[in-house]
Amino acid sequence: MLDFKLSNLAVVGAGIGGCSAAYFARKHFPDMKLTIYDSQERIGGRILTCKVAGRPIELGATFFNRINRTLLDILKTEKLETTPFERMNFAVWNGSNFVFRSNKESLTTFLKLLLEYRFSLTRTYLLLRKVSSQVAQLYQEERKNPSDMLQIFESTLIDKWKRKTFYEALKERNIGQAFIDEIATPITRIIYSQNEDIGAFAGLSSLIGIYSGETYSFAEGNSILPIHLAQASSATIKMGKKVDAIEKTPKGNYRVHTENDVMVFDNVIIAAPLEIANIKFDGLSLKRCGAQPYQSVYRSAMRGVFKPEYFNLDNSINFPNTILTTKETGPITQYSIQKASHTESVVTISSTEPVNRTIFTDIFKNSPVSIFDHYWKAAYPIFKPLSRLSPTRIDKGLMYLNAIEPMVSSMETSVLSAKNAVRMLLAEKLE
Ligand SMILES: Cc1cc2nc3c(=O)[nH]c(=O)nc-3n(C[C@H](O)[C@H](O)[C@H](O)COP(=O)(O)OP(=O)(O)OC[C@H]3O[C@@H](n4cnc5c(N)ncnc54)[C@H](O)[C@@H]3O)c2cc1C
Repeated sequence: MLDFKLSNLAVVGAGIGGCSAAYFARKHFPDMKLTIYDSQERIGGRILTCKVAGRPIELGATFFNRINRTLLDILKTEKLETTPFERMNFAVWNGSNFVFRSNKESLTTFLKLLLEYRFSLTRTYLLLRKVSSQVAQLYQEERKNPSDMLQIFESTLIDKWKRKTFYEALKERNIGQAFIDEIATPITRIIYSQNEDIGAFAGLSSLIGIYSGETYSFAEGNSILPIHLAQASSATIKMGKKVDAIEKTPKGNYRVHTENDVMVFDNVIIAAPLEIANIKFDGLSLKRCGAQPYQSVYRSAMRGVFKPEYFNLDNSINFPNTILTTKETGPITQYSIQKASHTESVVTISSTEPVNRTIFTDIFKNSPVSIFDHYWKAAYPIFKPLSRLSPTRIDKGLMYLNAIEPMVSSMETSVLSAKNAVRMLLAEKLE
């Protein structure tokens, strides 16, 4: 731990990226003056939990898994309680039938998949094993001397996926169309609201998330994570303060402008996608690889007595809790059904277009009560093949965490990028 008493750091964005950047910065720089800015009045960004009858319901980032090493390290250190995310009870809906239904036991589900999709399943498993070892290589590279996430990606075999679509990656391995349509694409739809034309690494990591065993969320709701990290950092948090401009001074510091104040910092970490952040840069040249389009997502939830007949189900006790969709179903990418009481359930629908209210009247036996409607204008990138990623390091003392988002977007990658950016700032101080 090193003590650079004179340095200070501004973090733009109080999502998981910004809050973990402040957390890691505090660990390396105990006396550093830390300031987090967020244009909204809450901490969390794309992590947002609402409570229904005391139970957390996630409107944004929902789960993580046991290969998310950076997140798991934080959980262990900070003793944050997690809960397994119930996911084996799923079904895939094509708009009129279920094309696949899981079994309660994961082994039986696996055997069912094997029987149905045979070599496509085994080939997919082999491919995912390979990609998982490439991800492990990424962590190894990251543990070495700190370097830009761009270089870390480029030094691993993960980099080769960025020029392909997920569909091309699967077809190269002779994975059959039925498996792509009925299993692989419904998974990319539930994770990133995108079909098989999604960028290969984003598509493959969606499958890895499911293949690598149990998934988790935070017992108190995922919003606890960024809130806890922001508190642990003891940063000054400026809520409702949009950063309008970052200006490099002749001395090499940064003036951070909001509507009604200007402060000078030695270091700045930008932890929000620049496409959304709308920040003006003065005295800086940004090496960016084109604007990244983002996907809109609508999440709506209603509570009432669920009508299993809507999905041609006759057994109201054993209905799936997660319904994935094939691309024939159109904009609805997921239905989630959670028991709220002995008789009632909360049904959450995710869609790339506004959800027609009549669906909810059809899905319940009684007149349902609205719980929330949330619109994510920019949920995650629309992942396409890329020629290059933008670097994390914009200039000395100025880092951009979301530079890697066009390749993959998750809580883990935001935290990993934050950890690495802080280590790069530390390395700059030692230069
Ligand atoms: C519906 C949905 C489901 C998802 N599911 C999962 C999942 O299951 N698992 C998973 O790991 N990931 C999931 N993700 C992705 C994950 O939520 C994101 O990758 C991650 O939370 C991004 O964090 P971030 O801190 O990088 O960005 P953000 O969370 O977007 O934070 C950026 C913050 O910056 C603020 N800001 C923007 N511009 C400015 C400015 N000019 N000045 C000041 N503040 C500014 C914003 O208000 C925001 O709070 C999901 C995302 C969505 C939307």
